[in-house]
Amino acid sequence: MERLISGAGRLGLQLSPGQVEQFEVYYRELVNWNRRINLTAITGYEEVQIKHFLDSLAVTLALKPGDKSFRLIDVGSGAGLPGIPLKIIMPDIKLTLLEATAKKAAFLDHISQKLGLKDVAVVVGRAEDIAHREQYREQFDIVLSRAVAPLVSLVELTLPFCAIGGCFIAQKKGAVDPELSQATGAVGRLGGKLRERKRIELAEFSGKRWLIVIDKVSPTPETYPRRAGIPQKRPLLDKQAKQ
Ligand code: SAM
Repeated sequence: MERLISGAGRLGLQLSPGQVEQFEVYYRELVNWNRRINLTAITGYEEVQIKHFLDSLAVTLALKPGDKSFRLIDVGSGAGLPGIPLKIIMPDIKLTLLEATAKKAAFLDHISQKLGLKDVAVVVGRAEDIAHREQYREQFDIVLSRAVAPLVSLVELTLPFCAIGGCFIAQKKGAVDPELSQATGAVGRLGGKLRERKRIELAEFSGKRWLIVIDKVSPTPETYPRRAGIPQKRPLLDKQAKQ
């Protein structure tokens, strides 16, 4: 885990020997399970350290320093990214991993147990449905989602989970401004307000990487998210974006 240890150091994170061992176990289980179910196309030892683990830890750049016990939901978590790496380095957070595919959710249950992680809930279902349940709606301080949908659709899947005063952090690559301007109307309609777009500057990453931080400033109207598939099929484009 040398690449992860040095990259994490540049993020200001000192991994303990126990945490390094947890990342080793996570890597081994990921590659093992990946033979049976499709969890990730990235399986090389160095590649996983950088593109999965370090990329997940980079979210800490947008968190308040010292804030280590909050309620976090990872929407469309897949193999547990970015939620599990963050839980390894911040064991006191209350983590919910939401995943639509039952087989992937089985891996999430398995890996949480194998790593001895406490306060992890795995929820199988689609964000469009789960976000209407009282126990999840506007219940999280931090909402994360990586590689799930374009921002304009993603905010409809994530902001309903976010408590007022909390925020949604999206991890994005490449040219982010067109995606941001397309999502401006939707963000406001769903009760959000763009705080910042923060560039991640780490030598390990080629190309531009960003954290888009959206504050939850007012309640999301009850009608959102719309039913399964609609946020992606008919995104909430505002008039300007349509022109
Ligand atoms: N976040 C992980 C990562 O970065 O490696 C997984 C990314 S994968 C490309 C997208 C994941 O989101 C898939 O596992 C898929 O099943 C899940 N997903 C897509 N739409 C979803 C939805 N509406 N609700 C819950 N999960 C969803």
